[in-house]
Amino acid sequence: MSSRRKALKTLSAIPLVGGMLGTSILTAKVVEETVAKPMARDFFKELGLRTFINAAGTYTSMTGSLMHKEVTNAISYGATEYVNLDELHDKVGERIAELLGCEYATVSSGAFGAMTIGLAGVMCGMDEKKVAQLPDTTGLKDEVIVQEAHDIGYTHALINTGAKIVKVKSAKDLEKAINDKTAMLWFLNANTEEGDIKWEEFVALGKKHNIPTFIDCAADVPPVENLYKFTKLGFDLVCFSGGKGIRGPQSAGLLLGKRKYIEAARLHTPPRGTTIARGMKVNKEEVLGMMVALELYLARDHKKEWELWESQIKLIGDSAKSVNGIETEIHVPPHANHVPSLKIRWDEEVVKISKDDMRKQLRDGHPSIETVGNKEEVGITTWMMEPGQERIVAQRVKEILANA
Ligand SMILES: *Cc1c(COP(=O)(O)O)cnc(C)c1O
Repeated sequence: MSSRRKALKTLSAIPLVGGMLGTSILTAKVVEETVAKPMARDFFKELGLRTFINAAGTYTSMTGSLMHKEVTNAISYGATEYVNLDELHDKVGERIAELLGCEYATVSSGAFGAMTIGLAGVMCGMDEKKVAQLPDTTGLKDEVIVQEAHDIGYTHALINTGAKIVKVKSAKDLEKAINDKTAMLWFLNANTEEGDIKWEEFVALGKKHNIPTFIDCAADVPPVENLYKFTKLGFDLVCFSGGKGIRGPQSAGLLLGKRKYIEAARLHTPPRGTTIARGMKVNKEEVLGMMVALELYLARDHKKEWELWESQIKLIGDSAKSVNGIETEIHVPPHANHVPSLKIRWDEEVVKISKDDMRKQLRDGHPSIETVGNKEEVGITTWMMEPGQERIVAQRVKEILANA
């Protein structure tokens, strides 16, 4: 290795480049290459962090999804000028509503943030005194009705307002639970099949009792149609994660639906300060990034993308199955993470490795590969991979299983 390359390598391993600038081993050229071109720095390596092939899916713990160049360009653009934050939100909200054929929209801090501000908007309307009062709900409608099978943890976004969750099973229970404290009915799309009450009936119950309905669709693109479907079905509010299938900023999201509720929701967000959502700020860079990610997502060839995922999953599945004793299943979850997904299973008497050890070996290899699953199976999706990585995954899966 040349001394210049060695110097570069050393430099890239040192977090505080500035502290090195006076030392003699650094030529002006090295300084220019590493300081003047910040993108040349390998930050994750500097920090001693492992990067990996994402064969798992859109998990917050794995930092969600990767943004396309057009999105990061929009983010960089946003960092170069000042604008008025409210005016930016107004304009982008209108643009998104037009793109998605709904009354109004806003960029939120994730789907979780969308739920908090959406409910807060429903509870307080345009009354600034009430806005400042939350999370104290004295005198406000503060009960949200949720089907028991839909209460899997994300309702915490709702109780952040100070509201309470009321759990019901059947439509009859739901009608019985409604009283003059009922603020909203909330539906978790991912668990549609597990609940008694389905979309149309849920919306009809809301309309019958004049109570707004909200559907959490955080992980529900693809299919792209879901971005239009639920506002058309009559849900008053709908939310999506920005950093899952849409591949926008990980901490952004979309709140779609009725203008009166979204305008009210905005009263809880920055720049206003005496609010529960002051900490759910979305900066101008991410507002633009979210808008551009949505535009790109809508313009994508969804059929072609689906066929690519199918062929990638088949490649990995076939590779695994070429090892004696391995069984595979391809399935598509009906709601949420609705993409071709592979399950790899085996009898551990025949193939002598546990599912946990298999995942660990994939993680510990080079390159590192993250998968999901449990004691029974190793789970793989390809939609969050970069093109070509499916071949590396197919090879590694086969190698580990064949050596077991
Ligand atoms: C991911 C997810 C959320 C949280 O979304 P963020 O965009 O990370 O805030 C909420 N609900 C469901 C069902 C999810 O899958």
